[in-house]
Amino acid sequence: MILEKYSIGIGDRFGMEGAAQVRALQKAARDGVSLVPVWNKSNREHSIIGTNPNDTLLAAMAAVKAASWTKPFYLDADHIGLATLDKFIEPCNFFTIDVADVIGRPADQSAADAFLNAMHQFRGTLVIPGMHKPITVDDVLLNSIARTYLLAVTEAGKVYRRIIAHKPEGSFVAEMSLDEADVPQSPAKLFFILAAVAREGIPLQTIAPKFTGDFLKGIDYVGDTARFETEFRDHLAVVGRAISEFGLPASLKLSVHTGSDKFSLYPLIRRAILDFDAGLHLKTAGTTWLEEVIGLAGAGGDALLLAKEVYAIALTRYDELCKPYATVVRIDRSQLPDPADVQRWTSAQFVEALRHDRACPCYNIHFRQFMHVSFRIAAEMGERYLKMLREHRSTIEHNVTTNLYDRHLKPLFVG
Ligand SMILES: [Zn+2]
Repeated sequence: MILEKYSIGIGDRFGMEGAAQVRALQKAARDGVSLVPVWNKSNREHSIIGTNPNDTLLAAMAAVKAASWTKPFYLDADHIGLATLDKFIEPCNFFTIDVADVIGRPADQSAADAFLNAMHQFRGTLVIPGMHKPITVDDVLLNSIARTYLLAVTEAGKVYRRIIAHKPEGSFVAEMSLDEADVPQSPAKLFFILAAVAREGIPLQTIAPKFTGDFLKGIDYVGDTARFETEFRDHLAVVGRAISEFGLPASLKLSVHTGSDKFSLYPLIRRAILDFDAGLHLKTAGTTWLEEVIGLAGAGGDALLLAKEVYAIALTRYDELCKPYATVVRIDRSQLPDPADVQRWTSAQFVEALRHDRACPCYNIHFRQFMHVSFRIAAEMGERYLKMLREHRSTIEHNVTTNLYDRHLKPLFVG
């Protein structure tokens, strides 16, 4: 199973917006850009919502049918490890193997020695076409890979082999994610991590490094965009070289994760993938939930009241809701609107505060991040929330399609 050149992680907390997201991909197809959808739902999301991967498969199948999608689609076991893998094996055909927890734990000495011996040939100045400068390969660099990443790659190998014990090799896509690590991986490190991946025998098709800068939930990239651009282009050059050097699959490509909107990065990423003729996997899934809330708020009446209620309840459980996302949100609590004021808000006021429109003076990045992590409240409302989603289908689906196409696919893939 060879993953297409451009793929995008989609899906939504409650499994109702798949068709609306697929329609955004169909709009891109009419612009001449071929993209395939990869349904994502992490183990954490499943446990908060009370669903399992089979539910996501059913939602995905219903969505492709409703939207008359005829190209392939994938179901991602998103950020799984040995502890969480098993229930994903049967329904999934895409596995995001997350080894961030193992990063930093040293490999045993014999494995480290074997790796260092095999990499000895690269010592000196390594010139990779497309990189902004050559890599200096010395003992410091190679030892740091062996100390920090080798065991993590070994762990990914264990996950991969457990999958192939149950599914034929080549019948699924393997990704490795490093994006939830504490420290970014430099392009030089990525090159040797990919060397270790090849030695481990994992036919990796996408890899998600942690990039420099902050990717916070639902809002734009925070960081030096010029520095990101240099790093991203170097990563592309490294991936291209790793394919030929280590015999990794020709379809290997970068994966850009995070629930961040990263709008300011899209033009740079677009330029880079075109220049390098590279593929890309993009994940954006998390913000579809916000489009549901925006749709409800925009619908007015009881739907607006429900959106206000989600916020009011969430605020009373601030610490609990933010804690699992501590590293990926940066909320100034004093900038959150007073719930009594929110009670008086019109539809337009709620929508303008929440929608990611940097040109709008009422857009509140603290409110948006906080609502992003508050989906547990809607999950607890259960049928009351789902009924409202069903009643306001057309408004919500319009938002979901428009958001994905206009704000993500168009600037990144269509231009
Ligand atoms: Zn990720």
